[in-house]
Amino acid sequence: MSEQNFDLVVLGAGSGGYAAALRYAQLGKSVALIEKDKVGGTCLHVGCIPTKALLHSAEVADVSRESAKYGVTTQFGGIDIAAVTAYREGIVAGKYKGLQAHLKGRGITTIEGTGRLTSPTTVQVGDQTITGTNVILATGSYSRTLPGLEIGGRVITSEQALALDFVPKKVAVLGGGVIGVEFSSVWKSWGADVTIIEALPHLVPNEDEAISKHFERAFRRRGIDFKLGVRFSGVTQNESGVVVTLENGETVEADILLVAVGRGPLTANLGYEEAGVQLDRGFVVVDDKLQTTVPGVYAVGDIVPGLQLAHRGFQQGIFVAEVLAGLDPITVDDVNIPKVTYSDPEVASVGLTEAKAAEKYGAENITAFEYNLAGNGKSHIIGTSGIIKAIRVNDGPVVGVHMIGARVGELIGEAQLVVDWEAYPDDIAPYIHAHPTQNEALGETFLALAGKPLHV
Ligand code: FAD
Repeated sequence: MSEQNFDLVVLGAGSGGYAAALRYAQLGKSVALIEKDKVGGTCLHVGCIPTKALLHSAEVADVSRESAKYGVTTQFGGIDIAAVTAYREGIVAGKYKGLQAHLKGRGITTIEGTGRLTSPTTVQVGDQTITGTNVILATGSYSRTLPGLEIGGRVITSEQALALDFVPKKVAVLGGGVIGVEFSSVWKSWGADVTIIEALPHLVPNEDEAISKHFERAFRRRGIDFKLGVRFSGVTQNESGVVVTLENGETVEADILLVAVGRGPLTANLGYEEAGVQLDRGFVVVDDKLQTTVPGVYAVGDIVPGLQLAHRGFQQGIFVAEVLAGLDPITVDDVNIPKVTYSDPEVASVGLTEAKAAEKYGAENITAFEYNLAGNGKSHIIGTSGIIKAIRVNDGPVVGVHMIGARVGELIGEAQLVVDWEAYPDDIAPYIHAHPTQNEALGETFLALAGKPLHV
């Protein structure tokens, strides 16, 4: 038995947990960071980073297929999955090593093992008792499934999908949200036939409807099949494949079924409720300072209701560290968190959709403008199509920006500042965008919203 005491104990070293640890240590405090697996969590090891490596490999495959269009002779010879794996693992390993060194450099004590909250100030890890003036819970999330749908064999989650040692010929994907469409995009570029099954009426259903519709057209053009507004009813599998049955009686045959129906909070059997931390459908109930129902115990990341994104977790971690240090940080507001879906095409958005803006301000009090990337020189050069849609309150600020097209994720930073700072189109319209960039399209959108369209 050993006992160690710190200013802060963080349970879980994913995006939320390690960001809190880094910031609090930076503020001169002693921090213990408890991790049962690897520091970096889901995002680094089985989420954001490795999936984006696969998406980059997919993009290279597409570029090599289309290179003749740009006057370059190459021959697409297929996917070497062992080489893809080595590339993906190399990226993750490099980032992992960097993070370990960074945590050490900040003087953070990393404790390996499974922790359990045993009191408002104590986490037990095996025979080690770790106490802290404050505790942050940051235990993350797991891939959900549907009632009666068991994961195993050819029915897989994103974690097994990442680690597949073959390129499937035919894939069924349950769920047309961000994880489902990203994997669909990769497999299609690698040569697979893909069918997505989505219970809601649209793919990427949380995006503005105009974006979802463009997205569906783009996926259809790529030959990705999807069935919308239809529920899954069952699946059978044998050595050669799966047969997925839908509620309307249709069936989809495939080599594998990826279940991508969302992620649930990892909060069970960790001592949370016994210590007085209230849960709501598994998520930790928090106040506006991210404090749980137990004073001194905070929660960050995917276990907190709302958007499950790494950069939200980072910001929440920093936020709590600063609250604990007596600073007055800006509250992390889900509405203004940028979201990117990294498929081909890419989708990026921040702020309110047109429907939500109409609900909040009244349809007659808002103006939406859609700029078509067909009018943007750089988009022509790189061969992408898409739109940028922005919504303003009449005589008021820009409240939402939504984009679809190649690499639009790289444009969302400017849109985020505009929405977050509640900028008026008239004030930002004069800002100059370099020509020719895709960024100009954003400038054109703001010009149009200010009533001064240039190329439209
Ligand atoms: P996690 O990163 O899950 O970290 C929690 C940590 O706690 C884990 O390391 C876990 O091992 C540890 N832990 C759990 N229980 C215990 C315990 N009892 N004791 C000790 N340690 C424990 N987000 C983006 O922003 N961009 C993306 O492109 C993106 N892509 C994604 C792709 C996929 C396939 C997936 C699955 C997710 C993706 N996400 C993405 C979401 C992102 O990964 C999560 O939002 C983020 O990792 C959440 O951070 P977290 O700190 O809450 O939890």
